[in-house]
Amino acid sequence: MKDVAAMISRASRLLLISHVLPDGDALGSSLGLMHLLTEQGKQVRVFSAGPIPEEYLFLPGMDHVSDELSKAGDQDLVVMLDCHQPERTGQVSGPFLAKQPSVAIIDHHQGEVDFGQAAWVDPSYAATSEMVTILAQEQGWNVSPQAATCLFVGVQTDTGSFRYGNTTPRVFRVAADLTQAGAEVWPISQEVYATRPKRLRLLGRIMENLELSQEGRLALSQITLADLEKVGAGPADLEQAVETLRLIPGVEVSALFRQTPKGAIKVSMRSRGKVDVSQVAIALGGGGHKSAAGVTLEGNLQGVRRDIATRLRQGLEAMS
Ligand code: AMP
Ligand code: MN
Ligand code: MN
Repeated sequence: MKDVAAMISRASRLLLISHVLPDGDALGSSLGLMHLLTEQGKQVRVFSAGPIPEEYLFLPGMDHVSDELSKAGDQDLVVMLDCHQPERTGQVSGPFLAKQPSVAIIDHHQGEVDFGQAAWVDPSYAATSEMVTILAQEQGWNVSPQAATCLFVGVQTDTGSFRYGNTTPRVFRVAADLTQAGAEVWPISQEVYATRPKRLRLLGRIMENLELSQEGRLALSQITLADLEKVGAGPADLEQAVETLRLIPGVEVSALFRQTPKGAIKVSMRSRGKVDVSQVAIALGGGGHKSAAGVTLEGNLQGVRRDIATRLRQGLEAMS
């Protein structure tokens, strides 16, 4: 953290970048850090390859998020948040990042870090937004209500609203501090957890496609592009579905396979905790955490599904 903090305090023009298909933590940590550093007199820009899920459009400062790197202008430091592989930020930003002389990383995902001039990567944190909050506290930066709102959303969403095993006493302390700093829990929750008919229809489709195997311990389902089109939904509408599958009593591991508009297959995996799904994801070039991981693969839906199912079955067998 010290090295990253030193690089940030030396910089005056910063570009903040997080992962594609951004979630509440990717956007919350980027926008939270943007507010914190702007208040410190720095010039800050935020890049996201998108698509931005509707529930995060309310985040303060969202209008500063750009999907164009040219608009990002010159910077003396790039901070990569909520991921540590440059490819993970997007097709255009990956090669762009590789050319940057000065990159600092703040992330909480598993895996080897072989990129950046300084990297604070620690999987003991539940969210990158939790790390940014602690960085602000260590540095003595003021946390405005805008910053607190963004960071709260990151902590809230990456802990499944303070339900997952990563919800430590430190998480509650950070959440309490952010609430104290002006994050308003009920208005935020109404935005983040708004139900949308198209998503409920999509969930219906996922439940129709549900396949349970391994004595009910493995739950698999899929969504095709045709399914998305039918309900008028996009890739950003699928965040919660795989979590719903994991919560079926008896299910140890769940996976959702979805066709992407570019013809690849995005795999989202969740485990109750005994099987490490990040191993499966990392082995195939993806990443994540022990209980939540993902990877995007070329190939057809059935082929990818068969391959992943085999790997997950092996994980389940090793466990029992
Ligand atoms: P998701 O299933 O997309 O919600 O992702 C679950 C976890 O795995 C999140 O922490 C993601 O950041 C991570 N993850 C998903 N896809 C990838 C990928 N292609 N490469 C690295 N990490 C990923
Ligand atoms: Mn994320
Ligand atoms: Mn995260």
